[in-house]
Formats: sequence, C-alpha cells, structure tokens
Amino acid sequence: MTGPGPPPASAINDPDLLRDFQHVWHPCTPLSDLENYPLLNIERADGVYLYDKNGGRYLDVIASWWVNLLGHNHPRLKAALTAQLEKMAHVMFAGITHEPAIELAERLTALTPDNLTRVFFSDNGSTSVEIALKISLQYWQQTGRPEKKRFVYLKDGYHGETLGALSVCGLPLFREKFDPVLMDNLEVAGPDCLRCPFGLKRDSCNAECFQPMQETLAQHTEAIAAVIVEPLVQGAGGMKMYPPVYLKKLEAACRELKIHTIYDEVAVGFYRTGSRFVCAGHGLSPTFLCLSKGITSGTLPLAATLTEEAVYDAFKGEFQQFNWFVHSHSYSANPLACAVANETLTLLEEPGFSEVLAQKAETMRRAGAVLEELPWCAEYRQTGMIGALELVRDRENLTPFPLERRVGFRIYQAALKRELFLRPLGNVMYFMPPYAVTDEEIKWIIEQAAAAVEDVLGKE
Ligand code: PMP
Repeated sequence: MTGPGPPPASAINDPDLLRDFQHVWHPCTPLSDLENYPLLNIERADGVYLYDKNGGRYLDVIASWWVNLLGHNHPRLKAALTAQLEKMAHVMFAGITHEPAIELAERLTALTPDNLTRVFFSDNGSTSVEIALKISLQYWQQTGRPEKKRFVYLKDGYHGETLGALSVCGLPLFREKFDPVLMDNLEVAGPDCLRCPFGLKRDSCNAECFQPMQETLAQHTEAIAAVIVEPLVQGAGGMKMYPPVYLKKLEAACRELKIHTIYDEVAVGFYRTGSRFVCAGHGLSPTFLCLSKGITSGTLPLAATLTEEAVYDAFKGEFQQFNWFVHSHSYSANPLACAVANETLTLLEEPGFSEVLAQKAETMRRAGAVLEELPWCAEYRQTGMIGALELVRDRENLTPFPLERRVGFRIYQAALKRELFLRPLGNVMYFMPPYAVTDEEIKWIIEQAAAAVEDVLGKE
C-alpha cells in the first residue's frame, strides 16, 4: 500500500453505499475518495435530470460521459427498444444478419462521406478504435506493405483505454502505467490553440502547427499505417478545440503519402460540434470513422467502425488465403442497440432539429461569455454543443493550477450542491448537456457553474 486506501467500511453510513463499497469497483475513481465524497445513488433519470434516492436532483451537464444526446428516458427510444425486444433481444452476428443492423449500416453509410461504404459493428468506443487499427494493419499486410505498422497520434489525444487504444493515447495519466507493453507508435505535438506557439488565433490561423505532423509523416512514411485524430475537439485532453484547416492539411498529406486516416468521432459525432459528423460537415473523407457513445443516445452500448470499399476489397480472397478479418465480439450489432440507434437517427434527422440545436449552441456561446470575467478564466471556448472553461492560477501567464490541488474536482463537489452534475477534466470545466436542454437551462447551468467556481476559488 503506497498511500491512503479505501476508507474502513465503518466510515460508510449509507447502507446501499456500504453494499456498493463491499463489491463494486468504479471507473476512474480514486479509492480514497469513497469516504469523503459519497457516490450519488441515482434511481431514475428523465430529460436532462438525474434523481437520487434521497430526493436530490442534478442536471446532467456532461450527458453521462457524453453519451446521452436526446435526454434520458426518451419515450420514442424506449418504444423502439421495447418493440425490438418483443422480437429478439440478441443473436450472434457471424453467420447471421438482421434488419436493425442492415438498416443502421445503410443509414450510417448514407449520412457519412461517400467513400465510407462498409460498417463493422462492435460495442464501445475503444473497441471501434481497436478495429480501425487492426483493419489498417491487416490491409497493409495484404496489399504488400507489411512494413507499415506504426500509428501516429496527437499529444493530448485520447481514443479509449484498451491496450491498443492506449497505444495511440497522448495523455500520460491514462497510459503511463502500461507504457512497457504498448505498441511503438509516434506521438506528435498537435494544435494547442490556447497556448499557440506561433501566437496565432484558432479562427484565423492556417494551422501552422501542422508542421511537426508534416515532418513526422515525411520522415516515417514507409512505416506508418495510419494517423488517428479526434477531429476538432480533443475531449479527454481537456476539450481542446482546433480549426478544421488542420484536418484539411492532414487529409492532403496522408492522401499524398498513402497513409490511412482514422477519425475518432466517438465523442464528437452526431451533431455534437454542430455538423452531423465532423468529416461530412467539413468535406473530409477519412479512411476510417469510429462512432459510439451518442449512437444510441446513451441507451445501450454500440459502436461502428466505417471504412471504404478499397479497404474492404483487400480482405477478399479464397478461404485458404486467410485474409478475412478474424475479429469477433459477442455483442456485435446487438439488435436492441441497433433498433435504438435507428430511432436516434430518425430523431436527429427530423426537420428543423439541427437548426434548433444551432440556436442552443448560440445560447451556450452567449451565456458562456460571462465566464470570461472570472479572474481564473484562461479561456471559454465553444464548438457546437460543447462549451469549456479552462481555469488557471495566473491569467496573465496562463499558469495552470497544479493537478494535486484538484481544483476541478472541488468545483464538481461545489456544483453538486447547486444541483449540477459536471465532472471537470483536470482544470477544465465543460458543458456537454443532452440536446434536450432548454435555453433557460443552459443559462442556469452557466450561472451555477460560475458560482461553483467562486465557491471554491473565491475563498483561496
Ligand atoms: N474515443 C474518444 C474520442 C472518446 O472520447 C472515448 C471515451 N471517452 C473513447 C474513444 C472510448 O470510448 P468507450 O469509453 O466507449 O470505450
């Protein structure tokens, strides 16, 4: 034992939390927090609100880890789920197909860039990334370029937490402990618009910061299978936002050098940044597109990896050649999840939906301006329905708060008292509510979030 461990069971007063404490292991939760910061015991959720067993209500400001697009307990999604449940809950997806998956594949390929014609289903974001990495590797082996086996990823990039996904993770917090077994990939400094080394602004620059990527691609062309990015917003890295021109340069360079591009739109797909998908919205055609999270609006786990026909073609051949993709997941294309995903798409594509969402994003932008008056505000940035406030100790020099001070975590605790459920990423507080949020609620979230920052930092 190297530090404070979990509290003694006697410190947990609530009987349900005691039962949880005895057998459950929660994701991304320091065990020493379990004593001082009791878990919320959520009993039901409706619209943008979560309700706990003690009568508390919290606005789900981060859409339950960015999955819930349309609001909790959505009647149409429940109806789609139960209708499918009456017919079939699950069936394996090798040797079998079913209507919900066929329809979903048709719809996804119709809504994404024209080059994406094939869909491989799995059940979480990390896995959708693993599949893209594996297909890319196998593609190069089967097209006579087996030396192409390294991936390029951005500093501060995040693509999930399985070992493959961690091998393209640019955040030490997540990968450090596993470094000894990770693939030998190439990390590149990416856009850092708040602290731009060229002193430029994200809305007017020409992605001068593409230079290190250009150099890496040129230097290692023969060894690189693919470049993976989170387009426009690096989520777990602190909602770092960068302009589309970076992606345009990346696409041009990769096309010229014959390197695959993998767009991880697990967090930003389905209108989160304003466009249905970042690639489609900006006229970009990645080789792979990874989708998950919002695909079922937070109802059931599902993921899809899309790719192009030329990639699929490299997997054709006689059985004896063994060049088919030997990859399987028990819950691949779960029919319940596919049925809910189809209904999610129907709701997202209803006339006027994206226009209403654009207005809400505008409210988020306007209301968020008040956050810039906080003395600790380095920047309030916003892309579509993602707003992010980066807090710093010293505004002039953009000196960050040391992570040990847990500024974000303490604000999260203060915000709970104000009925907001928001979990900052380090020193970055962000707003990524379900799209069902109203303009009034957006303004209230921002007011309360500002007050929570004052509650914590105003006293120091
Ligand atoms: N990629 C991105 C961009 C993500 O934000 C996440 C999750 N935060 C993942 C992949 C991994 O998804 P999952 O947690 O479903 O494995």
